[in-house]
Amino acid sequence: MTALTRNRGRALIVGLGIAGMASAIRLQQAGWETVVIERAPARRDGGYFIALFGAGAAPAGRLGVLDALRSRAHANQVSLEIDRHARRKPGLGFTDLPHEPRVLLRGDVESALHQALPAGTEIRYSTTPTAVEQDDGGVRVTLRDAGAGTVRTERFDLLVGADGLRSTVRSLVFGPHSAFLRPVNHMIAAFLMKEHVHGFEPHEAIALTEPGRSAWTFPLSGRPPSALFSYRTTDIDREFKLPPADSVRRAFGPEPLGPVLGQLLDEFEHADGLLFDSVHQSVLPHWHARRVVVVGDAAWCPTLYTGMGASSALAGADLLGTMIERHPDSVEAALGAWEAHLRPFIEYHQHSLPLGLNMFVPQSHTGKILRGLLTRNLPFIGPLALRLKTRATEFQMKERDIAKV
Ligand SMILES: Cc1cc2nc3c(=O)[nH]c(=O)nc-3n(C[C@H](O)[C@H](O)[C@H](O)COP(=O)(O)OP(=O)(O)OC[C@H]3O[C@@H](n4cnc5c(N)ncnc54)[C@H](O)[C@@H]3O)c2cc1C
Repeated sequence: MTALTRNRGRALIVGLGIAGMASAIRLQQAGWETVVIERAPARRDGGYFIALFGAGAAPAGRLGVLDALRSRAHANQVSLEIDRHARRKPGLGFTDLPHEPRVLLRGDVESALHQALPAGTEIRYSTTPTAVEQDDGGVRVTLRDAGAGTVRTERFDLLVGADGLRSTVRSLVFGPHSAFLRPVNHMIAAFLMKEHVHGFEPHEAIALTEPGRSAWTFPLSGRPPSALFSYRTTDIDREFKLPPADSVRRAFGPEPLGPVLGQLLDEFEHADGLLFDSVHQSVLPHWHARRVVVVGDAAWCPTLYTGMGASSALAGADLLGTMIERHPDSVEAALGAWEAHLRPFIEYHQHSLPLGLNMFVPQSHTGKILRGLLTRNLPFIGPLALRLKTRATEFQMKERDIAKV
């Protein structure tokens, strides 16, 4: 164990996303000084649809941001399954779930956290870590400021890697991406639409699912929806060789697109701030090493298909502050207690990926039938029991306030 020389410490937090800002707020609540560095030259906004479950709402409350996270769901939202001819049948959406999650954009959570950062919080943009060394007294981090063109080394009591799926902190301290990124063999393309889907009402959520590919729209009150394409691939590198819209078109071909996919793809081609990426889980045997800890997607990215990335990032950051408070004399003891408490919860959600993936993108014709049994109230006792059992455990875990200890 490494003893702190004083009650409060100084932490470097890498990444100004949900995990990073939540960690900064919570560590300051615990009496720590924080420095946040962000690779981008300015704070991003916008993003894509996210659902915030109880597991994230409870820590958001303790971080002081819950009131700012007003759900963007339509009061009368309806979920539809459609085919390429835009023929509809009833579907299942986030607003039909047992505990309706808050419907948000990622930028809503980030803006709320940014506003809640205590005045004077030090944020350095265009800055990245390039080397990390630890000794008994602290962690020395070399920081490169691309804006100023400077490099300098500073000492901290704690280094928090909240720098996302392709975390630099993780690669500097724990090992290369290839050791920890588990490919899901799917691509995603997410964007905010500029128009409503033609022929549908603003409150209608649409899912067009086929084996190995799907397109969803998520209604947002007061503005056009957020849209998401997902598709399976056997060659991730190949997907990045074409412009994103061409790769998505290829994935949904060769059959005619039909009106809805056609509109979505046309909009995607001209969207601002679109996201096009491969899907991976981060799977690490340990999330901390002496005075270094990784949090959020950097540590455990559960993927969008579990709907738990933002909620678990908030929970992980909140719990980190609590454990630091409980172990004021030892950062290592705090990080050990933090990981021991959090890991089973996170692993549960990581293991639920196949179910979530099949709900978003049916993996086969059989998977599509199973998905239908889980999403519709069919009069069969067996499937109904399965549906209730699966959903009950799954959704209890999404609501569980793991950060409250
Ligand atoms: C399409 C989509 C839908 C989703 N839906 C949901 C949902 O419904 N519910 C849910 O809970 N979650 C959802 N998620 C997941 C959720 O958005 C993420 O899990 C969450 O935003 C992760 O936050 P983070 O802070 O850990 O990482 P990130 O958001 O990746 O933030 C990392 C930050 O670190 C910065 N950074 C990176 N490298 C460096 C570096 N070397 N130096 C300095 N800064 C660096 C980045 O610029 C960024 O600002 C979804 C994700 C996607 C893609």
